[in-house]
Amino acid sequence: HAKNSGRDAFQFFQPGMNAEMHERRRIEDQLRMAMENHELSVAYQPKVDTLTGELIGAEALLRWNNPLLGEVPPLKFIPIAEDCGLIIPIGEWVIETVVDTLKLWREQGLDMPRIAINLSPRQLRDQAFSQRVQSILNTAGLRPDSLEFEITEGVFLQEVEHSQSSLYRLRESGVGLAIDDFGTGFSSLSYLKKLPVSSVKIDKTFVDGLSVDPVDEDIVSAIVAMAHSMHLTVVAEGVETQEQYDFLRKVHCDAAQGWLTGVPMSQADLSDWLRQRERHREERAK
Ligand code: C2E
Ligand code: MG
Ligand code: MG
Ligand code: MG
Repeated sequence: HAKNSGRDAFQFFQPGMNAEMHERRRIEDQLRMAMENHELSVAYQPKVDTLTGELIGAEALLRWNNPLLGEVPPLKFIPIAEDCGLIIPIGEWVIETVVDTLKLWREQGLDMPRIAINLSPRQLRDQAFSQRVQSILNTAGLRPDSLEFEITEGVFLQEVEHSQSSLYRLRESGVGLAIDDFGTGFSSLSYLKKLPVSSVKIDKTFVDGLSVDPVDEDIVSAIVAMAHSMHLTVVAEGVETQEQYDFLRKVHCDAAQGWLTGVPMSQADLSDWLRQRERHREERAK
């Protein structure tokens, strides 16, 4: 009997695998029509200067609301979009949407210094990528430093040769580059020195430990000190409590992003949020 248990376990697993493949297929089918059916949108989450409380920018986060599947989280559909190549047109749609939003906010006199967009490795593999970004910015009449791209350390492991030239061209044009989820990959230190990045984002897993786990506190202080010695800006992700914020401020982490300082909001909600902040500032100045 014991001899058979391996095979039983294998057979037991098969239907589950099929269900997962079936779900992926369903997501892929729906995702193919998501753009033309206007099911995609972009949410914007503020990034705030820890010292002054000023807004330094926002991160664009893709949202998908499908009539059949409901609200599908990015961590579920983005890997599928990457596998089937849909991330290319979807990623370009995100860039165009963000640039339209920035243009609108500037026209309305709202002060949004810059917006960061997450990039998949596949988008960087395209040699024309940086050129297309520059031409989208030109058409909109926006300065390149209005945009920043967030890439994870994984990019460097898989795609070094292909993506490095894209990264250099982007950075040379004046677009910002941030390492996302910093500290969770393998390549942190050597690639930080080699690549033309302008900022690092400390992963939420370390931020979660602030005021709870002294090891996480040491890691965060070390990342901030190291990044500053390389003249990089440091942003902490997933800041949820005042204690975390106070620690970050104490160790001179430049900026915080998280539910404490602002949740991801629709374009309209962030417009209201910006206007309200502006009003508060005017009242304080009186
Ligand atoms: P990320 O770039 O690391 O984004 C941060 C994630 O943390 C977002 O999840 C955000 O909603 C969430 N978050 C922010 N503050 C807090 C907080 O205080 N507490 C907690 N628990 N979570 C917080 P989201 O929006 O679900 O996005 C997940 C990931 O999907 C992103 O991680 C990014 O890797 C990817 N993603 C999102 N939009 C895009 C996109 O347009 N293109 C690509 N390629 N990837 C994207
Ligand atoms: Mg990000
Ligand atoms: Mg991140
Ligand atoms: Mg993350």
